[in-house]
Amino acid sequence: MLEALRESVCRANRMLPAYGLVCLTWGNVSAVDREHSVMFIKPSGLCYEEMRPEDMAAVDLQTGQVLEKGGRRPSVDTEIHLELYRAFPQINSVVHTHSRWATIWAQSGRSIPALGTTHADEFLGEVPCTRAMKAEEIQVNYERNTGRVLAETLRQREVFFSGAALARSHGPFTWGETPQKAVEVAVTLEMVADMAWHTALLCGGTAPHMMDELMNKHFYRKHGKDSYYGQL
Ligand SMILES: [Zn+2]
Repeated sequence: MLEALRESVCRANRMLPAYGLVCLTWGNVSAVDREHSVMFIKPSGLCYEEMRPEDMAAVDLQTGQVLEKGGRRPSVDTEIHLELYRAFPQINSVVHTHSRWATIWAQSGRSIPALGTTHADEFLGEVPCTRAMKAEEIQVNYERNTGRVLAETLRQREVFFSGAALARSHGPFTWGETPQKAVEVAVTLEMVADMAWHTALLCGGTAPHMMDELMNKHFYRKHGKDSYYGQL
């Protein structure tokens, strides 16, 4: 069970450069096994091509302690991932990248508006951008506070099993039921961010939001108890 999760986290990390979501080593995938209170996450600074399942760092979900002596050091973003798992028991895997278009929105400090059905098939309403962090939140426990500010933004809305948020002046975070799903959401987010920027440009700066009826139809036909998309 744990070994399967470790492999899945490794495979998902290697999907990031394959989908063009990361440059160098700027992105990380993690996943949790809540029964064993363990999180597996990309090791710090290791390049994706060389990564093997045994390189995934194991961290205690509650204490943040590295669990395996002699194992790789976990990503510097470990505390951000841990805060999201602690805040939302329904989240099982988290992806963080600096993918170009989603990061451009994060740097603008703007949430990504719902402009069309590509967006609404995955996200209900805008993809929110957090508030700016305070100086003291940056100076002490920076990574933990980044996670807390993300959680603060997400508590104001319904958190679905998969979704996304932008850390202001930083970049996107996505999550899902499995590492593969969380990566898929990151791919969709990047596509949606790219389209939203170009749509806004074409409209002279501000694009019209899609109709609520159309947004709800597309989101709920794929998500929730009344969904009817895909095979049974
Ligand atoms: Zn980052």
